[in-house]
Amino acid sequence: MSALSTEINRRRTFAIISHPDAGKTTITEKLLLFGGAIQLAGSVKGRKAARHATSDWMEMEKERGISVTTSVMQFEHKDCILNLLDTPGHEDFSEDTYRTLTAVDSALMVIDVAKGVEARTIKLMEVCRLRTTPILTFINKLDREGREPIELLDEVESVLKINCAPMTWPIGMGKRFKGVYHLYKDEVLLFSPHHEGKIAEAEVIKGLDNPKLDEVLKDQAEELREEIELVKGASHEFNLEDYLSGQLTPVFFGSAINNFGIIELLDAFAEYAPAPKPRQAEQRDVAPDEGKFSGFVFKIQANMDPAHRDRIAFMRICSGKFDKGMKINHVRIGKNIQVGNAITFQADSRKNVEEAYPGDIIGLHNHGTIQVGDTFTQGGKLKFGGIPYFAPELFRRVVLKDPLRSKALQKGLTQLTEEGATQLFKPLKNNDLILGAVGVLQFDVTAHRLKTEYNVECVYDAIGINTVRWVSADDPAKLEEFKRKAYDNLAEDGGGYLVYLANSRVNLQLTEERWPDIQFNATREL
Ligand code: GDP
Repeated sequence: MSALSTEINRRRTFAIISHPDAGKTTITEKLLLFGGAIQLAGSVKGRKAARHATSDWMEMEKERGISVTTSVMQFEHKDCILNLLDTPGHEDFSEDTYRTLTAVDSALMVIDVAKGVEARTIKLMEVCRLRTTPILTFINKLDREGREPIELLDEVESVLKINCAPMTWPIGMGKRFKGVYHLYKDEVLLFSPHHEGKIAEAEVIKGLDNPKLDEVLKDQAEELREEIELVKGASHEFNLEDYLSGQLTPVFFGSAINNFGIIELLDAFAEYAPAPKPRQAEQRDVAPDEGKFSGFVFKIQANMDPAHRDRIAFMRICSGKFDKGMKINHVRIGKNIQVGNAITFQADSRKNVEEAYPGDIIGLHNHGTIQVGDTFTQGGKLKFGGIPYFAPELFRRVVLKDPLRSKALQKGLTQLTEEGATQLFKPLKNNDLILGAVGVLQFDVTAHRLKTEYNVECVYDAIGINTVRWVSADDPAKLEEFKRKAYDNLAEDGGGYLVYLANSRVNLQLTEERWPDIQFNATREL
């Protein structure tokens, strides 16, 4: 095998999907702890403030350095290199989450044993399904009372439409939680609570028939034997192919806060999770072991250092090897750039990338020329697709306090909207600047950043827009006619694409009916 293939085969690039409070942050810390990436669990915590209140978010902004480095975490386990891509906890940042999910090869779904399948998990699973992303499942908080495991797996199967293959099975829960039985290794891992960042391997009892089990578990030993028999008969067996095609999810049970069940998860990633696969570009499929480098930008995050307006573009490498100082082509603008100072996200600090491989994420310093969705190649014109923009549901008109700052406002809005969390719309009929967002927090954040980073003060006016649709037509003449007739409701988005601004759902529906030759799209793929 070539050196490149060896590196590709040991990469595992994934994200965690869950409903808030299921334990994503805790699991992230523990994965890093066990993966040896950080000394002390806890450094991931600071970011959580993000979803509590705007003021916390502002505070967090000051610590942006931390949040950028923790957006991507690289660590090792069993000779594999794992890249964990974090997604923002706050639902107002969901667009960012969706895009991040386009850059992973698999996902870890975390479910709270007491809550089961929750709203956000359902949404995120829908996104994973678009690319048939393989899913591992961790059912968390077994140290607390929760729902019956069988019932939970039923719920996952019926609500999320994916088969469950239990890999481990819990022995009791809450106060009676004694550990898990590994169905395929035929061993019991005994639970003992560890709250601190200690790494301790669980005590293992080999074999379900082992008399030692009766000594340790007492009545629960026999209960376990009966339950396992039942589970084996009633549940799906693990099958690698079905997992890789997104039809079946291996399920693990544990308690993240007690470091219990985490090593089994890491083992599963190393053993079963997919290495980078060929990725679809508009022109063709691009295999990771192609000699030539390629990658795409799925996220832009601003100002680690506000004084320098340092914006980092996160690029997922799709093929070839990245070497420090190499020249790559910025396909959209057709320019070659030499990348001497890309950053990597090992451990809890940023450092300069010397080399990186498919599946890895590198950060490029962006001075306004890189947008979400941009492709970079080592020669060769490619465009990776599939990064979605969603029609926002909230809109505000931006009103400048000092009219003389108009240019700075334009620049600020253009740059901030390039990050992709908010979108800018310019009506054809006037000079309004309309900001669209999926969550209301984004407006506050934008105003705050305009002030601190661009020295522009603005306020927002309510505006009667309910949603937008990107419009296109196969027949250019029809599109021209539509443009004339619907002129007052049309705008350009930040990328110069035509959008229809609808005042209400009814208005949108009527317009769609009136113009059958026009396509109204709720998403725009980059
Ligand atoms: P996130 O919102 O998904 O990132 O969730 P967190 O990791 O912040 O966890 C939410 C809450 O659940 C916190 O108070 C955690 O301490 C707690 N928690 C996480 N894992 C466990 C667990 O295994 N057992 C118990 N009892 N609590 C947990």
